[in-house]
Amino acid sequence: MELACRIAGCKAVVPAELTQENFCPLHFTVSVEQKCADLRRETVGGAPDEGRREEIVRYLGQAGKTLAGVATGNQRLPDELKARILNTFLTLMNLRENMERAAARQKPLADAANRSAKA
Ligand SMILES: [Zn+2]
Repeated sequence: MELACRIAGCKAVVPAELTQENFCPLHFTVSVEQKCADLRRETVGGAPDEGRREEIVRYLGQAGKTLAGVATGNQRLPDELKARILNTFLTLMNLRENMERAAARQKPLADAANRSAKA
């Protein structure tokens, strides 16, 4: 039996790559975009600590891997959805980049604070 997407009212089929998430490809990209928007808000004020950063990096990697599986899987995807998937990859890449940049900006500050604390 084919699994239905977990979003109420959505009749789209869940491909094998997304059985764990229980999303159709479209709603998987929507959920990743939403999560990335939340993470962007979280990281915009300042870089998260190392533990949280690792968690986020892990999430980005997993989402990217799953997305790649869907993109190259058995289910045929309409062009519009292909474009959407590419866009979601871009969101993942940009979030990672922004986070690294925020961390790099914060590091000299932290180093300076350490130095002045020691002096
Ligand atoms: Zn759906």
